[in-house]
Amino acid sequence: MSHTTVLAGATHLECTGTGETFESEQLIGLSTVGKPLFARYDLDAIEGFDMATVATRRADLWRYAEVLPVRDPKARISLGEGWTPLIDAPRTAARLGVRRVWIKDEGQNPTGSFKARGLCLAVSRALELGAEELAIPSAGNAGSAAAAYGAAAGLPVHVVVPSDTPAPILEEITALGADLQLLDGLISDCGRVVRQGVEEHGWFDLSTLKEPYRVEGKKTMGYELAEQLGGRLPDAIVYPTGGGTGLIGMWKAFDEMERLGWIGSDRPKMFTVQATGCAPMVRAWQEGHEHAETWQGAQTYASGLRVPGAVGDFLILRALRESGGGAVAVSDHVMADWVAKLGIDTGIFTAPEGGATAAAVPMLMEMGLIDEQDEVVLFNTGSGLKYVGMTPID
Ligand SMILES: *Cc1c(COP(=O)(O)O)cnc(C)c1O
Repeated sequence: MSHTTVLAGATHLECTGTGETFESEQLIGLSTVGKPLFARYDLDAIEGFDMATVATRRADLWRYAEVLPVRDPKARISLGEGWTPLIDAPRTAARLGVRRVWIKDEGQNPTGSFKARGLCLAVSRALELGAEELAIPSAGNAGSAAAAYGAAAGLPVHVVVPSDTPAPILEEITALGADLQLLDGLISDCGRVVRQGVEEHGWFDLSTLKEPYRVEGKKTMGYELAEQLGGRLPDAIVYPTGGGTGLIGMWKAFDEMERLGWIGSDRPKMFTVQATGCAPMVRAWQEGHEHAETWQGAQTYASGLRVPGAVGDFLILRALRESGGGAVAVSDHVMADWVAKLGIDTGIFTAPEGGATAAAVPMLMEMGLIDEQDEVVLFNTGSGLKYVGMTPID
């Protein structure tokens, strides 16, 4: 056997609730008990997948093909997603009073947000497994990413979003050829419309964590951090959390990387930041719960954070707890202040969600969860350009 053979593909899927295993080479949603499924790989059998080798590869997330589920190289759709810069931000570090700050600038992804990573994998995999029509409920950015990858794959996409989604995102979805439906309501209401289409028309549902592969795309952020920091991880990661795919994905990636020998057993403290107008994970973390109750009357101009409930809530809360991290909520106006400060300090026009990560740091220091010796990675999950015309609510 040739040593250049890439051992692509998962060996099976595993229920995150019960551990029950499922065949991976079929179109599938949640497990039989309604929990997210994780793709598992034969990590011990993978050869030639060390950081030095990966360093010579293409500058997108397909550099990690061995730990991604797509088997057929022709089904690997690419618009240049991933391998975003990790930008040193010394003036922000000084302003916050911590040793070092990096900003992982996910606004540089196709469609201007890190949703590109997840939808790249989900759509590639849906194409490989024979899906014919895709659908997604979204707070905005997931919809435009789904539209982009659907167009690239030649598959029709139905996107259902709240009618007050930022206008640039609505225009983007339409320009990318998706069927756009607007709804007076929240992402959870949009989910009901998609489920109806699944039953009536056989659409394949790309909702957050309701198919197994968006999280596989998002986990590549964890691999990139280790690569970009030369085989180590930061002390703390601050992540603006909606459905939590990225946080859950990175936490999964760290375990895989330890198994692969890329990193040791140390883990960053994982922090969730949400908006005060929609903070179900923060409330559940404060109350020590394993699951989060649905947030009533969700509102924030950070549309990516306007997610009142998450099917992966227990996975988010577990990662926060196991890492020694935590969760805080910040108001829209404080986020907006930090968008302005980050712009001046770094040259990055962040999304409100990116501003929220910096806004969280003083609160986390006050709580004794981050200290001045810490090296901190802030996730700017989207470009500020996608929110032009939106103003803070609270
Ligand atoms: C979707 C989104 C989030 C939340 O991401 P999750 O992984 O679903 O928690 C944060 N910021 C932006 C800009 C988003 O589009």
